[in-house]
This record gives sequence, structure tokens and C-alpha cells, in this order.
Amino acid sequence: MSNKQGPNVCSGGFFKIRQGSCGRWGFRIQCRDLSLYTANSVGTPDQRLDFRVEARATGSNARAATFRTLHNEVRTPLFMPVGTHATVKAQATGFLEESGSQILLANTYHLLLRPGPEVFRNVGGIHRFMSWKKSVLTDSGGFQIFSLPHSRSISEEGAVFQSYLDGRTILLSPECSIETQKDIGSDIMMVLDQCVPSTVDESTARTAMELTHRWAARSLAARGDSPQSLFAIVQGALFPELRRESARALCEMPFDGFAIGGLAVGEGKSEREDTCEFTTQLLPQDRPRYLMGVGTPLDILEAVHRGVDMFDCIIPTQMAQRGGCFTSRGLLQMRRGIYKSSQEPLDPDCACPTCARYNRAYLHHLTKCKETLGWQLLGQHNIFFYHRLMREMRQSILEDSFLSFYNEKREVLQIDDIDNPVTPMRRRPLKKITLGDYKIHTAIEGFSSILHVSSGEIMHARTPPMDEARGLYIEQSRLSERLAETTAEPLVIWDVGLGAAANAMAAILTHESMAAKGIVRPLRIVSFENDLDSLRLAFKHHDRFPYLRHAGPPAILKHATWQSKQHEGLEWKLIEGDFLATMHLAEPPDLIFYDMFSGKTCAPAWTTDAFRSVTAACAGRDVELFTYTCSTASRVAMLAAGFYVARGRNAGDKEETTIAFTCLDNGRERQREMLGAEWLKKWERSSAKFPACITASEQSVFEETIRSHPQFFMRADD
Ligand SMILES: [Zn+2]
Repeated sequence: MSNKQGPNVCSGGFFKIRQGSCGRWGFRIQCRDLSLYTANSVGTPDQRLDFRVEARATGSNARAATFRTLHNEVRTPLFMPVGTHATVKAQATGFLEESGSQILLANTYHLLLRPGPEVFRNVGGIHRFMSWKKSVLTDSGGFQIFSLPHSRSISEEGAVFQSYLDGRTILLSPECSIETQKDIGSDIMMVLDQCVPSTVDESTARTAMELTHRWAARSLAARGDSPQSLFAIVQGALFPELRRESARALCEMPFDGFAIGGLAVGEGKSEREDTCEFTTQLLPQDRPRYLMGVGTPLDILEAVHRGVDMFDCIIPTQMAQRGGCFTSRGLLQMRRGIYKSSQEPLDPDCACPTCARYNRAYLHHLTKCKETLGWQLLGQHNIFFYHRLMREMRQSILEDSFLSFYNEKREVLQIDDIDNPVTPMRRRPLKKITLGDYKIHTAIEGFSSILHVSSGEIMHARTPPMDEARGLYIEQSRLSERLAETTAEPLVIWDVGLGAAANAMAAILTHESMAAKGIVRPLRIVSFENDLDSLRLAFKHHDRFPYLRHAGPPAILKHATWQSKQHEGLEWKLIEGDFLATMHLAEPPDLIFYDMFSGKTCAPAWTTDAFRSVTAACAGRDVELFTYTCSTASRVAMLAAGFYVARGRNAGDKEETTIAFTCLDNGRERQREMLGAEWLKKWERSSAKFPACITASEQSVFEETIRSHPQFFMRADD
């Protein structure tokens, strides 16, 4: 089809944007690398980009690929700095090249209005215009038009809008958008789509999606045999059925790549991630996938994990203008007075030109004075940071260590300024975040945990929940080693006191990273909890509990069970109700993470009877129990119930914790620091000698039980 004859290309009573310029493309390409065009002359998508997947990460949908545009080889995953008006704000193209930018994004809508397509025709395309040798992707203008609610109307033909520069009425049709993108001379063009807020109702979303499909077909026809690549945009808001339909309809057409549109426009983070994950799986393996307009470094990490290859976002430059920068030490706000005299580099772990040359004091000063140099320097750093993150992701995918990189990085990427945390006093008062008897508590160090309001107890008060879970439960139980044992018999963990699921998630993440290495024993986690509000609350605010960004917690809340789709043999089950009344419902454990509220709040959980029930439920198996307490009363309750008891490592503000086990074989008493004669002597003198459940008349029998416990008659070299 001839583009010239497209009936609605900005014609009729509207301003004529282009006429008779077709065919110039044929002239322009003469100036470029002809070998490329010979290969591309047939114009099939494979030849246009030659997209090749080089590696896929184990345990993740992340992948590394390369493709070839009209200007350079592109390596994915990649971030494309946004140069809406043919300039990445405050950045020269020389720096962009040096920092590793492979594709810049420009905007058809803005460039159509100014400088106008004729300038690109006269100058010979955007690359020459802005002195940029690598690739350019042009967005179609759909998103911009639909963000101007009062100056547009949409018909089958296209979108009518008024120029914000001179008031002209312009029809942007799919053909007009493609013609303009041809004039601009981008390497990758986008189809015109109708973008609606992600929160619209289903029938609005469907109407917009169907129009987008018809426009996509018209865009493809308008592209004709141009060597420029063309990407379709999958729409469908947050409705899986629509997304499925949209992907199916668009994938039937020979596009060179597929974008996921209509996200980052009003939905929540988890909705975005779910839709992204779902949609990505509907797209072909042999085409690039591009998530439009997303996002922060953390958002990008999450989307790469879900199988996306390409990203663009204004955040690195926009944040720079406001004094914000992403660093290895967290997100820094350079306006803060704390940097007034700081002689440190912006990021000690960064090799960008800004960090190599300037200290924080100067950058703080520039930001305070709103000097453009400050914007430029911080922007350089942020772009550098993004590109480096993308390179590291790519490297870890190629080395097949992405999953552990991802788990580690997603913790790091959500931290604010580690070295100079914003103190709660100076922070705007936080909205009270409560649910039932629980409240989110933010520690002075900046991490969040759950506070039980009626008792005042905080789960993990001194250490971030995941750190404590790893130190106290995962490392002490040598979970990795146990999972590396070559047996098909599942390891069973009782997670007693699910709380905000830190311990269970720490175990799950350990299993996942072991599975990524290929060696792993099946794992079944049984969590016990009588009040799910703490998990509900934490999950609702999972930006503060990043370890909950995982398929497991929502499934546990909804169905009380979760089974990993990625790793065979990883299962998680919830038994709701009082632990002591429900433990018989679970299969006997190998490990117990005993993380109940303390004896003050939950006395029955720490009695001799409680631990007797636990030993009985262990059914003669060799079981180890780990708990955070080191209280004498709890330890004697365990001893009286028949457990052997040892000291655990320190955790939070506790000097030591407690490990209890049912069997003495395996030489375990030599690996653990058993409570011995010394401890027994101290116990004899203790004022808190007995668990609360022991009455005065039972005391002497109880004393005798403890004194005669076999653990106090062991010789050190037994
Ligand atoms: Zn830097």
C-alpha cells in the first residue's frame, strides 16, 4: 500500500502535516550502510532486527538477547534514556554514548509539532539532527495525546487535537504517525495506540483495545517496505482476558517487537507486576519485549525477572532535576542539609564522571541554587547507574546467576540513604497504618516491621526482618546444606508464628536460589498462625516489606497454600488457628522455626505442656527447633519436655538465642553449645526458675526432672 494514498493522512480541513514526501526514505538510506539494507530489502521482521536470545536465567523469565537496528547492535536487557524533544534533558550526546546508551527514545507527538517533519526531511533525519550515531526509538504520540483530556477527540480515523504551540487542529492518524516517524528516521517506530488509564472498566478497555488493533494493522500497512522496525503495543488494562486477546491479535501480524502499554498509568505496583508477568508470557520468544514508561531501578529489576527486554523512563533525569540520585548507598536527596559540607563522592562505588570529580557538598550547593549544572551532573550519574544495573543484570543472566542477583538486588534497591537516614522526627508524619491489632513500625534505621498493638511487641525490632530470619533460622539450621542433600524425601519446616512471613520467605528464597544452581531437595513449609492481619497489613504495604513481592504470600492469604510453578518440590501451606490445637494436622517436621509472641503475650506457647506436645508431634524424628528467646523459663520448659537445649547465636538485642533438639545422635551435641553444669548452677540460683505453669507443689518434682536431664550427665568427649 502506498503511504501517500492513505486517505486520512492529516488531510481535509486539517493542517497538512506531510504531503509528497514518501520515497525520500529511499534516498536517505543511500547515505547509510548499504549492506544492511540489502539484507533488509525484503522487509521481513527477522531480517529487520535479527533478534537472538543468548541466554535464559534459571528460575526466572529473565533473558539476555541481542538485535541489530539500522545503526548498532543492541544488547538486552536495556534501558533507553528519554529524549522527548530530541534531547535527553540536560545531557549531551557525547556523554550518552560514553555511558553506554544504545537507544534513545524520542517522541513523535512533540517532534511533529516542533520542529516539524519538514526539518527532519531537510536535515536528513534525527540522528544527524541531534548528532547521535546509535539507535532511536520513536513513541507514536498516543500516550501524549491521551494525557491531554480536553483537547482531543478520537474517531476511527485517528485522534484530533489542538497544537499547544499555535492552536492548530491536527488529526494524528496511524498513517500520519508512521509518516512522521519515517521522516524522523527512527530505527524503531511504535504504532499509534489508544492508551486508557489502567483503572478503566472492562468495556472502555475493550473498545480502546479493539481500536488499537485496527490502528496497528493500518500502521503496519503504512510502514510498507521501510527498513525501519515497527513495534505493536499490547493493551487491555488490567483484564487478563483482554490482554490475552490483544496479544493474540497483534502477534498474528508481522511486527518486529511487542510493547506492553497501558501500565504505569494509575495501577498499583503489584497489579502492574502481575499484568506485566501475565502479558509477557503471551508474547513470542523471538521478538523483543518492551515495557513502556517503567520505571525505577527496582521496577526494572522486577520486570526483567518477568521477561521484559527493553525499558524507557524519565525518572533518572527527572529525579536529577529535583536533586534525587540512585546510588549503591541507597536513594539520596542532595537537597538535604546533611550534605552541606560532605566531601565524599556522590557514590563511592560509581565510576561516572560526576562521582569521579565532584563531592556531595558541591552537588548539594548546585541543587539548592537550582543550577543547571547540578541537574546535568546528577542526571549523568543516574543514567550511568541505570546502564550499569542493566549490564549487571545481563551479565548475571549470561552467567546464569540472575536469580541470586535478583534476590540480593531487590533488597538493596529499595533502601533510602543508608549512611544518613532521614530521622523520623524530620519526616512528614506518617499516616497511621494499622490493621486489626497490628501496626507498621518503622525503625530509626529506616526498615519496617510489624507491631502488635495490644502487647507492644515488635516482630524483629532491632534488625530488618529478613536479616533476622536469615541469621537466626536459615543459617543456624544450615538450611542450604540440608537442601543440598541428595534425597527425594522432602524437608519439612514448621514455621510457628507466620507473622509477616519473613521466616517462611527466607526459607523459600533459600530454596529458590539452591534450585537455580540445580541441586535441591524438596521443601515443604507449614506455617501456623491464628491472626493473618499482620501478614495482610505487611502485604498491603509491601513496598516496606520487599521480600513479600513474591507469588507466595498472596497465594497463602487467598488459598492457604502455594506451590512454586518454577521449582518443583517447593510447597507452602498455612494452618490457621491456635498452634497447640492444630499442630497434629501437620506432617511431622525436620526443623521448627519457633517464632511465637513472647511468654508475656502468649504464655501457653512457652509451657512445658506446649513443648511436650511438640516433642510428641515430632514422632521420634530427629528434629531441631530454633527460637529467638533465651529466657530461663522457656529453656527449662523445653528441658522438662524432653528436648536437649543449646545456646543459639545472638540476634537483634539478644546476646544469645536457643536451639532445642530431640535426638543426640549425629554428634550434634559437639556442634552445638549445650547448656551444661555451669548453666544448671546459675539456674539453681535464678529467681525465675520455673515456667509460669508450674505450681508451688510441683516445684520440687520439676527441679528433679531438670537436674536429672541426660544432657547434664554427658561428658564433653562422649
Ligand atoms: Zn556516579
